Amino acid sequence: MAEENQARSPEAGAPAPHSGPGQGSGPGSGPRGPRPSGPGGRGKFFRRKKVCKFCTEKIDAIPYRDVRLLQPFVAERGKIVPRRLTGVCTTHQRRLTRAIKQARNIALLPFATRH
Ligand SMILES: [Zn+2]
Repeated sequence: MAEENQARSPEAGAPAPHSGPGQGSGPGSGPRGPRPSGPGGRGKFFRRKKVCKFCTEKIDAIPYRDVRLLQPFVAERGKIVPRRLTGVCTTHQRRLTRAIKQARNIALLPFATRH
């Protein structure tokens, strides 16, 4: 009986350090913090029509309770996706921002920074 005794080799399970982008290097550089200018930051959000979703659907007041509606406009970390990526018009982006903030307050959406 030849028992194959395989030596346990440590599998390459590279622990990914879950550290965000460097913390503020400049004091007060913009109201929204430093811009994330990382390499290869393209196409994470698939291109959709550059037409405001809310204009198309004629949504005037954005319901902040409708998480499903807001979710696509909130990135994984809870950040609000800039309208360059979503194609939302300025008017609706403002309302959207407010809606998202309200949604955060009632814990429907996560905050950007977690303690
Ligand atoms: Zn719009």
